[in-house]
Amino acid sequence: MASSRIWAQGLLHDKTAIVTGGAAGIGLACVKALSQAGCNTIAVDIDEQVLSAMQGLRAQGLPVHSIVGDVRDRMQMQKIVQSTEALGGLDIMVANAGIVRTADFLEMTDTDFDAVLDVNLKGAFITCQEAARKMVNQNEHSPGRGGSIITMSSVNAVMAIPTCAGYNASKGGLSNLTRCMALALAPHSIRANAIGPGSIMTQVLQSVVTDEAARHRALSRTPLGRIGEPDEIGQIAVFLASPASSYITGQTIYADGGRMALNYTCE
Ligand code: NAD
Repeated sequence: MASSRIWAQGLLHDKTAIVTGGAAGIGLACVKALSQAGCNTIAVDIDEQVLSAMQGLRAQGLPVHSIVGDVRDRMQMQKIVQSTEALGGLDIMVANAGIVRTADFLEMTDTDFDAVLDVNLKGAFITCQEAARKMVNQNEHSPGRGGSIITMSSVNAVMAIPTCAGYNASKGGLSNLTRCMALALAPHSIRANAIGPGSIMTQVLQSVVTDEAARHRALSRTPLGRIGEPDEIGQIAVFLASPASSYITGQTIYADGGRMALNYTCE
């Protein structure tokens, strides 16, 4: 399913964004969508693949940059955020980097649980706090400049998979961290919202939906009857980054093909 890109053309002209986990999947789609909307976009990823991925987009004329970095490392994230000074400052942060570890609940190790929380929750905290500090500072010098912080939560913030204890806990925490940021940053005109994807076709999903039976199970729980495309999440990032969403803060927007609505069916 191809999403329309025309609606956003030029919408984010003169803005600068950082997308963590921007080398692949949903993060890469956010980088593409934001840069197609005219935004100078820096993709940060722990995987060096980010360098070649951005080279490819630059060759298409998109205003993208790449930095190899780890969202768990406060000093690195601080430097990356400060580097936006050369592009006129920071307007949009998409805290997207995330990992999954699966194991039966009774078997999950501390190591696996901690690894997921470290990237998905603590990494997002570091990323968003550094972005917020920069944006608050900018607003002191240019009142009304604002800023938009977007976190990549999941339907698993509220729907549980028994084999993903760390992941479920991290995404539940991330949605509430986002509400907390919305309240703390509203006095500075900075908005914070989360996107909650359902099943989106990326490497992560391919590692979970490995056979036809698993695919059938995923589709049977998705009223729209298909797996989502990363581009469909990228478009939501553009909306949340843009003035079109200027009165939305503290929300999680679920893009799940109707999956959560099934919780309310009486059929
Ligand atoms: P992906 O594995 O394709 O991409 C994740 C990216 O994050 C990778 O490029 C990886 O290298 C990077 N990354 C991992 N650890 C990092 C770190 N410490 N520092 C910097 N970068 C790091 O996964 P995806 O499916 O595109 O997922 C992106 C986000 O969307 C994740 O937060 C995930 O939980 C969330 N999500 C995905 C789905 C889905 O169905 N694919 C559904 C709901 C939520």
